Amino acid sequence: MNTHRNLTLDQIDRMSLLHPVTSIADHDRNGPVIYEAAQGARLRDAAGRELLDMGAGLWCVNVGYGRAELADAGAAALKNLSYQHLFGGASCPDTILLADRLLGLFADRAGAGHFARVFFGTSGSDANDTAFKLVRYYNNLRGRPEKKKIISRSGAYHGLTAASGSLTGIPAYHKAFDLPLDGVLHTACPHHYRFAHEGEDEAAFAARMVADLEALIEREGPDTIAAFIAEPVMGTGGVFLPPADYFARVQQVLDRHDILFVVDEVITGFGRTGQWFGTGTYGLRPDIVSLAKGLTSAYFPMSASMISDRIWQVLADTSDATGAFMHGFTYSGHPVGSAIALANLDLIEREGLVDNAARLAPRLLAALRDRIGDNPFVGDIRGVGLMAGVEFVADRATRKPFREGTAPHRIVSRHAAAQGVLARALPFLPVNAFSPPLSITAAEIDEAAD
Ligand code: PLP
Repeated sequence: MNTHRNLTLDQIDRMSLLHPVTSIADHDRNGPVIYEAAQGARLRDAAGRELLDMGAGLWCVNVGYGRAELADAGAAALKNLSYQHLFGGASCPDTILLADRLLGLFADRAGAGHFARVFFGTSGSDANDTAFKLVRYYNNLRGRPEKKKIISRSGAYHGLTAASGSLTGIPAYHKAFDLPLDGVLHTACPHHYRFAHEGEDEAAFAARMVADLEALIEREGPDTIAAFIAEPVMGTGGVFLPPADYFARVQQVLDRHDILFVVDEVITGFGRTGQWFGTGTYGLRPDIVSLAKGLTSAYFPMSASMISDRIWQVLADTSDATGAFMHGFTYSGHPVGSAIALANLDLIEREGLVDNAARLAPRLLAALRDRIGDNPFVGDIRGVGLMAGVEFVADRATRKPFREGTAPHRIVSRHAAAQGVLARALPFLPVNAFSPPLSITAAEIDEAAD
């Protein structure tokens, strides 16, 4: 019982909160699941039950919950300089050091030494909004104002603000919001298991996907296309790994038509794929990279947009004529977030959490395959690093999908939660996602799979 109006928290929640991405009718019926505490990979709900969080929140608590180092770094920063903006050239030490650290990490750990500047925000969505605006800005500055459209992919997830929600390629997030906005296009989803033709191998499938992309560019007119945005591994869509050759071929098409490559590393950044960045895992050559989630392991809302030399040079060269860069947020480069991000990076390095993700990756797939690989409704179990998906089908032999409206993965999620394991059901295809903290142990993976 809460003292507020003598109601329980459950009742107050139902009367006062509009939950993101939640059915209002279901919530009215079932009420909230209230979590009160967390440590390591485990959450504790209000009834005192422990749940093993195989999602690391929303793919974000990379170092696990309850890390004193991060709390201490945040508390010290709050006491010392609780806020400082970056507008008009103001700055603060940890934010400067964080920008430098990220540029260094990209050069050393992703083989991408061509980044020149870092812009900070507060969420993955706003990082992608920044990318959305930057590619327009870049083309306006270099006298190409007609080159504005951005191509995303069906099944992509890039956030839910008006611009990033338009880049997202999952119809459920567009419905009734009049999205996508004009100027955003979607090309085919390169998920081989579901969308390949019969007998089409990965290389042939990738070639077809990229031919579709180029056909779209040519139909629209290459002079109107500013950028292509992609997650290295599509997360929320269903943990879709890029088919062999896909990104190398995409890059050739982008180069041919002078199109920028925006890489959304909001999930894949900071170790999720078993390497520091998906850019390194898949040998990508981005012009802009969006980072969030693992940047602070969600101990503070913070995002970063990495800006390449190529874009930076145009901004710098035209600066006298264009005046100030009129984009930014109250919380851009927040000193507390920066201190926490630095402590988070220290911790990831000190504990070798990226190596831990790489080491445990085969264990996660093997555990899932051992326990449920023979189930007649399990079509595919796939993953990279500590990011795995289990896709359900009505018929394994033919890969026939379930009827529209049937949601086996939601049933699995409910049953798993009843047994103390959180395994998210995704909104595009019937897939359960597994993306535990990178600090998880082999024993915890086995426990979750059991
Ligand atoms: N990009 C990707 C790849 C994501 O997975 C997400 C969130 O899940 C976002 C962007 C949006 O991030 P946020 O929810 O912090 O706005």
